[in-house]
Amino acid sequence: MASMVHTKARPTIHEFALIRALHRRHGRRPPSVIQGIGDDAAVVTSGADQWTVLTTDLLTEGIHFDLRTATMADIGFRAAAANLSDIAAMGGIPQYLLIALAIPRTGTQHQVLQLYRGMMAACRPHKVGLIGGDTSASSGGWFLSITLIGMAPHRRALFRSGARIGDLLYVTGTIGDALAGLRLLNEPPPRVNRPTRNSVLSTRHRRFLIRRHLRPTARVAEGQWLSTHRFGTSAIDISDGLSGDLRHICEESHVGVDLDLGALPLSPACRAYAASRKLDPVGLALTGGEDYELLFTVSPRQRIQLERAALKQGFSLTRIGEIHPFRFGIQAVSPHGLRQRLTHTSYEHFS
Ligand code: ADP
Ligand code: MG
Repeated sequence: MASMVHTKARPTIHEFALIRALHRRHGRRPPSVIQGIGDDAAVVTSGADQWTVLTTDLLTEGIHFDLRTATMADIGFRAAAANLSDIAAMGGIPQYLLIALAIPRTGTQHQVLQLYRGMMAACRPHKVGLIGGDTSASSGGWFLSITLIGMAPHRRALFRSGARIGDLLYVTGTIGDALAGLRLLNEPPPRVNRPTRNSVLSTRHRRFLIRRHLRPTARVAEGQWLSTHRFGTSAIDISDGLSGDLRHICEESHVGVDLDLGALPLSPACRAYAASRKLDPVGLALTGGEDYELLFTVSPRQRIQLERAALKQGFSLTRIGEIHPFRFGIQAVSPHGLRQRLTHTSYEHFS
């Protein structure tokens, strides 16, 4: 779709020059790409005995990102990480990227290039190739649509529906950080000559949490490892918050879960943030989305093997619960030993 961009209303960007610039910068092709940017469609070869894994996301300015608190590169990085994380949660290998972009009248070529710089920075470690996209003008804000394509060996993808009674529940990394980072970004700037709450939190913790929000790590290696070694029985990535995403596993697998809130992996920075704001860090960990950690289940027979192998790989995993029959529901034991059914909003009643 070329015609919409180089109208008189949008003199700042010439679409074909922009695509050429993007192609020059990011058009390096993995060997499996037969035709990338520059034709009517991209062509890739796919081997036999493989499943194709596909995901797409639409991000809208003002809904999913805010140019006042994030750079274009941050926005691109986070958007790509969210898609990489979806492939990771399937145990897949991400391979190809397609980007559709609507640019507001005030948008500049520099902004677009920064956006792609961020996206490709997230993709580069995984050797994901940009193979196409589409560009349009927008009469409103920015719109960014990302499609990521990957593969999984035949019958090796991880689904939300695979959890079985007795399985152990694990999570990678630490959770709650990204929400703390987002809240820090949205706090009003401290007033001068007044002792502020901000001073209570060290700069190091502050930076760590904001980075966890703006530059999340998709757990691609962990996801592949779980699927190729057949450790994972089910998996999901934490994009909406542990309590919500855990509910998806329970519903899809038709099981219940006993969650140990005292075991949730909290970073020192998240604990420090919670202490400085008089919040319960467990609440942040339960409700905070966008950490893009993996939540997954493993058969109890595999426990020792999994934990040993994770240590060897340098993967950080924490066991946080156990799968029960469906009628058990979703129950959680608080760090103080109180047991309660977990609903989206119930956590406040624990303390
Ligand atoms: P068509 O009109 O046939 O859709 P385009 O001019 O939109 O062709 O696209 C030409 C080539 O540039 C295609 O290979 C397309 O995938 C690629 N392309 C267009 N916009 C983008 C973009 N924003 N990012 C990456 N590739 C793009
Ligand atoms: Mg097009």
